[in-house]
Amino acid sequence: MKKLNLLALALIAAAPLPLLAASNSSSKVPDWKLAEASEVWSPVPAVVTANKNTAPSDAIVLFDGKSLSQWQGAEGGDAKWTVQNGTFTVAPKTGDIKTKDSFCDVQLHLEWMTPTKITGDDGKTLEGQGRHNSGIFLQEQYEIQVLDSYNNKTYPNGQAGSVYKQHIPLANPTRAPGEWQEYDIIFTAPKFSDNKKLTAPGRVTVLLNGVLVQNNVDIQGATAWIGKPVYTAHGCAPLRLQDHGNPVSFRNIWVRKL
Ligand code: MG
Repeated sequence: MKKLNLLALALIAAAPLPLLAASNSSSKVPDWKLAEASEVWSPVPAVVTANKNTAPSDAIVLFDGKSLSQWQGAEGGDAKWTVQNGTFTVAPKTGDIKTKDSFCDVQLHLEWMTPTKITGDDGKTLEGQGRHNSGIFLQEQYEIQVLDSYNNKTYPNGQAGSVYKQHIPLANPTRAPGEWQEYDIIFTAPKFSDNKKLTAPGRVTVLLNGVLVQNNVDIQGATAWIGKPVYTAHGCAPLRLQDHGNPVSFRNIWVRKL
């Protein structure tokens, strides 16, 4: 008898869902009532209008195609880069520029293009880090590399899509020079305790031209050209774009605070 009961239990446990549902039909509580118990009705997500080729309705537009009014020189003063035809371009040796606003966790969209001409004034082909370099510094410190990485050999942790000198990109989906490229970046800012100790590293996910190149990687500290990255406690901070001496262009930049 005991054996039979165990067998019955085993059969019930293995029964497909429709059978179990049917077995509930005789209970007093209807299925729809039981199902309600796992419905979550709040918070209701805010309605966001997702536009084609322009910023979503809740984004902060950082470049509207007309002026650099949202930007300033990284060392103060006006942003001196060149605005034309709905884009802006690094004016070499005028310095980095940064947003006037500060940001913490963000979703960032930015489009960039390197020049078609890949020879320098001396007629030699620009190579490696010298072929149209710029960069996006999250919170002024953590660089997502901008570089013409189309048939251009360099150290992989310094090519486009890298977290510079910290993470090699998962793929190289860069387009040819002269074509617009798109970054979509989801950044979680590092956290620090009241006594300025790191409690959680920054994290970043990066899509380059729609292809995942960084998958929620830990940022190791402020970008360093020489030596190891190190964290210094800070709060929300601007986005900074790099003047590496090359006329790299940008357009359609927007950010959503997360
Ligand atoms: Mg750079």
